[in-house]
Amino acid sequence: MARYTGPVCRQCRREGLKLYLKGDKCYSDKCPFSRRGYAPGQHGQARKKLSEYGLQLREKQKARRIYGILEGQFRNYFEKADRQKGITGENLLIMLERRLDNVVYRLGLAANRTQARQLVRHGHFTVNGRRVDIPSFQVKVGDVIQVRESSKDSPLFKEIAEGLAHKTVPAWLELSANDMSGKVVRYPTREEIDVPIQEHLIVELYSR
Ligand code: SF4
Repeated sequence: MARYTGPVCRQCRREGLKLYLKGDKCYSDKCPFSRRGYAPGQHGQARKKLSEYGLQLREKQKARRIYGILEGQFRNYFEKADRQKGITGENLLIMLERRLDNVVYRLGLAANRTQARQLVRHGHFTVNGRRVDIPSFQVKVGDVIQVRESSKDSPLFKEIAEGLAHKTVPAWLELSANDMSGKVVRYPTREEIDVPIQEHLIVELYSR
């Protein structure tokens, strides 16, 4: 599956806010956005008034970048969300949250979504006891996500395990730090999804 491979921090500067794509670095003074919080490129510091379309586009790009999804797949999510009952924008965000790589990140089993995606892809997790290596896998209520026994002894997962003792997870997930697993208790509500996205702008963009 293709993915964005360019400079990560450039994406925060383009969107004009911290997207927290790097893990610990995002909270340190090494964060490039803290030092250069303007858009990249020659005209990055020029003041620009965005059109309605521009605002909608930026919102969609922001969501894509936070969850690390390319355009085609993102549009597929939107189309599925649109076919579901309820509010399309909320359906979209809930589907994005239910991705296995996002759940791994939310449980604290990876430092950021990019790492979560890579660890899933390398087969380090099981869902209900079966190995799943598809980052976009949609978890369901009752699913148990766990680090594979054979992976727990690796230095990376040992380090991750140490950080789990103090990890707080969203209310829709349940973390069992001792066995490096988590359960999906229910699906998240919009209020519980702490991403700075105005999803109605994305719906407007795709409804043009
Ligand atoms: Fe964004 Fe994190 Fe890079 Fe800062 S360190 S620019 S928050 S990805």
